[in-house]
Amino acid sequence: MENCIFCKMANKEIEPKVVYEDAEILAFYDIAPKMPVHVLIIPKKHIASLAEAQEEDLALLGKMQLVAKKIAEELGISESGYRLVSNCRADSGQEVPHLHYHLIGGKKMGIFC
Ligand code: 5GP
Ligand code: ZN
Repeated sequence: MENCIFCKMANKEIEPKVVYEDAEILAFYDIAPKMPVHVLIIPKKHIASLAEAQEEDLALLGKMQLVAKKIAEELGISESGYRLVSNCRADSGQEVPHLHYHLIGGKKMGIFC
């Protein structure tokens, strides 16, 4: 997808600080972290948000969650706990229209922020 900043990361036009990568998924540090640990997990395939995900994306979505679990273990927040958030469309405040999970942790959180 042209002009999509996360697609540019997936195809290495822009080089983020990578935490995890495989053929289908890329994870990298958020440029403006809101928590001590703040990683973004994206599918390399362009999906605008969860609202655009299809049945064929089932395995990919499941894998993204297991990748989040693995990164949480590697970054030392698995025991203390973490949150996986995906903003979807306008009311959520989604800024980048390419599906991503925020993996956040490293500090005690309130219920929704
Ligand atoms: P959203 O609001 O769409 O759920 O979250 C987008 C996230 O992408 C924000 O937390 C923002 O800081 C992050 N972000 C935006 N542009 C870049 C970038 O160029 N590089 C990185 N690493 N993160 C970005
Ligand atoms: Zn994209």
